[in-house]
Amino acid sequence: DHTLYEQVMATIKSERINFVNLEFTDVVGVAKCVTIPAEQFADCVRHGKWFDGSALENIARVAESDMYLYPDLATFSILPGHVRPPSGTRKNDIHNDGDNVIARVICDVREPDGERFEGDPRAALFHVLELAKEMGFKYQVAPELEFFLLRFDDKKPMPLQDDPGSYFDLSTQTTINIRSEMVHALQSMGMKIEGSHHEVASGQHEIDFDTGDALRMADNLLTAKYVIKAIAAQHQLYATFLPKPFYRINGSGLHIHQQLLHRDTGQNAFIDDHSEYGLSEIGRGFIAGQLAHARSMCAILAPLVNSYKRLVRGYEAPVFINWGRVNRQALIRVPRPGTDPQASMRIELRCTDPSCNPHLALAVMLRAGLDGIQRKLTLPPAMDETIFLQDDSERLRPRSRLLPATLGEALDSMREDSLIRDVLGDTIYEGFMDAKSIEWTEYRQQVHQWEIERYLAQF
Ligand code: GLN
Ligand code: MG
Ligand code: MG
Ligand code: MG
Repeated sequence: DHTLYEQVMATIKSERINFVNLEFTDVVGVAKCVTIPAEQFADCVRHGKWFDGSALENIARVAESDMYLYPDLATFSILPGHVRPPSGTRKNDIHNDGDNVIARVICDVREPDGERFEGDPRAALFHVLELAKEMGFKYQVAPELEFFLLRFDDKKPMPLQDDPGSYFDLSTQTTINIRSEMVHALQSMGMKIEGSHHEVASGQHEIDFDTGDALRMADNLLTAKYVIKAIAAQHQLYATFLPKPFYRINGSGLHIHQQLLHRDTGQNAFIDDHSEYGLSEIGRGFIAGQLAHARSMCAILAPLVNSYKRLVRGYEAPVFINWGRVNRQALIRVPRPGTDPQASMRIELRCTDPSCNPHLALAVMLRAGLDGIQRKLTLPPAMDETIFLQDDSERLRPRSRLLPATLGEALDSMREDSLIRDVLGDTIYEGFMDAKSIEWTEYRQQVHQWEIERYLAQF
């Protein structure tokens, strides 16, 4: 796109941009970047920027491989002055110290011959979006990003004590100001924010993104996480996206509202006024597909050992593989559409947490939903709040109706699902599986403080 290229080059000049961060992610979702001087950018757009592609493999890194980063010019935006980029390739690591003006651009990873590298999470999402396109759909999402603001007390992370608000509380002015600063920074980078509010726990907050194109949203989530961390740090606070930082306190989720639009008309494909819940056959198939693959995509959506400490009863996080309208414990919720159903008819998936790789998460979610449509899977009955409350017998339920209880279980389920493996492709699947199996084994072999306290005196 020539005009876009010229716009970007003009911005580099007029805004006196010194450096450009070329951003991408590895298979487990760690944001990576290579920083180049702005003079190199034109060449990078034309020929790509060489880097060692094994950086994508996380800890499973074996040999160096030659890969090239190609900027997606539509994602070019200037980082707010005080925002530090994610830790990049060491020798090129630059911090935005106020004197430097740094822009970020999200990149595709390509092989030397120009082909998309199948180990790039962005490519995985791109391919599923192409499939959706062939089926006549456009995928739109609106994430709700939750996080904690912490302070460190003698190296121990503590939830903010002077921020004891709860759900939608008008909390202390300080944290409202910090949150507004975060929202401003995100907006200045072109992100559309629907709102932000205090969450249930002390020091816990949420920023809600406006519905948008899935690829752009995944790109933006990547950037948003370090922008939020950088702004918290300026106030001597630490923002964490760890799914469950504290025992017995609500964890942080990344609920994702999803819509399919008909590509030709732009109409919401989930709506059918004449059927139950106002849900079209496409909508029902989509939900059924995500329910069918819920267990096996969980490792991607909730990828840490710690993620499964969040997915327990009593903290507004899902445990059952079910769907409902008002049920706060439902895995998938279909909020009652408002007066503008075209915009508001959407399907909310709630097991996802903010530690996931957003490109991989949206790729498996979309593929699972499309599978439900393609195979015309039947949607099981909705589970409403009252039924749920009477039902206290999860131990007696078949395991298949529950989300995985541990990362180990999630990995086992993922191994059995060829559709999810196909979405990831061999390189990502193997890299992810290796890294996560090591993580799980390491955790499993630890002797935890709880075991000592519970058992030592007795045995
Ligand atoms: N924090 C809850 C979770 O872990 C969600 C709370 C909410 O938004 N209702 O998913
Ligand atoms: Mg919310
Ligand atoms: Mg919330
Ligand atoms: Mg929600």
